[in-house]
Amino acid sequence: MSPVIPIRQENSAGCQSPEVVQERGQREVFCGLTGIIWLHRKIQDAFFLVVGSRTCAHLIQSAAGVMIFAEPRFGTAIIDERDLAGLADANEELDRVVTELLERRPDIKLLFLVGSCPSEVIKLDLSRAAYRLNTQFGSSVNVLNYSGSGIETTFTQGEDACLAAIVPTLPAKKSEGKKLLVVGTLADVVEDQFRNLFNKMGIVDVDFFPPRRSTEMPSVGPGTEFLLAQPFLADTARELEALGAKHLPAPFPLGAMGTSAWLEQAAKSFGVSDNTFAATIEAPKKRALHALAKHRVELNGKKIFFFPDSQLEIPLARFLHTELGMQLSEVGTPYLHRRHLEAELQQIPASTRIVEGQDVDEQLDRCRAAAPDLVVCGLGLANPLEAEGFTTKWAIELVFTPIQGFEQAGDLAGLFSRPLIRRLKLVA
Ligand code: SF4
Repeated sequence: MSPVIPIRQENSAGCQSPEVVQERGQREVFCGLTGIIWLHRKIQDAFFLVVGSRTCAHLIQSAAGVMIFAEPRFGTAIIDERDLAGLADANEELDRVVTELLERRPDIKLLFLVGSCPSEVIKLDLSRAAYRLNTQFGSSVNVLNYSGSGIETTFTQGEDACLAAIVPTLPAKKSEGKKLLVVGTLADVVEDQFRNLFNKMGIVDVDFFPPRRSTEMPSVGPGTEFLLAQPFLADTARELEALGAKHLPAPFPLGAMGTSAWLEQAAKSFGVSDNTFAATIEAPKKRALHALAKHRVELNGKKIFFFPDSQLEIPLARFLHTELGMQLSEVGTPYLHRRHLEAELQQIPASTRIVEGQDVDEQLDRCRAAAPDLVVCGLGLANPLEAEGFTTKWAIELVFTPIQGFEQAGDLAGLFSRPLIRRLKLVA
């Protein structure tokens, strides 16, 4: 039996937030290497070299698919039995692999050495390796390192670790004025939509991090105000704050209301008038509300249960409850950053059971007892739960799919209504 620690807190508005129960038991989550799949698509001149085992190679290869026509932008330097037994010099081997890679691929401008469980077990110091390789290749490529290990982490932490590794290398902000920074990987189409909306409001000094190319890294310093686009970037936010940037606390840009509130925080901070803000969001917000209406018919009153996986669970629960009328049976999340999630927690009914961490057997029992209409969980739990008659949604799909912003609100709702419609068809 794992320790269960209930925590009830008052939020800044004086209302009572839902109770948060902490569990520390067996967990069922992917490791941080998974983040490479969306990060390598975003930063188009970066290469992710996993220093790991054949298992690590298999994980990212099968998760990302095999690219036949393009040169891949991720790979694995395999640590084999000789390295694990301490018979070979893993550093020498790593230098050889990196040298071969960079000679063959001069297009790589940013190289990440990504740590794994095996590299941590043999205590291979990748920060020293990155330093050494920067000395050798620094004029043509920047070498950074972070850990994607599955030891005590969950899969979205890979992005946090990657971005947190980049922040100390960002150029210092030189201009006096304020600038807006949107932090967290967004699909290019979503980034373009947000940039357009900010520009229409008159906020023109706006950067997105990570950028599409490593040569376009944003400058940061006092006067930088940042909005988080993802709720799993605690370390990245801390690094940005250490450079003098200021976090703008807001709900996350999911759904019509979440996106409005997220944009509004920037508008307020940058002195945009109420009229300009309202005029800017009027048409796209109307489209989002229209797109959500048809999904509300399917989802209203349905009960949903979240197993902890992506760290998107709290914002998603808020969206599904406030914008689509779903009942929240239990909301599990691997980690809960209270300050970043406060605006979301304020909108979740105080009676909702929120669980931080996991004890998978106990949670499965609670899920069976609650008999939800829809279960959001990792791949490992989805098939057994489907076999028991539950309707499931893979949490990882919510990270791979563009879901932020007004124009994606309908698609996001569809990710939840489709499995229910499919189940109805199967039993009809
Ligand atoms: S990093 Fe660890 S958990 Fe992830 S694939 Fe490699 S061995 Fe498995």
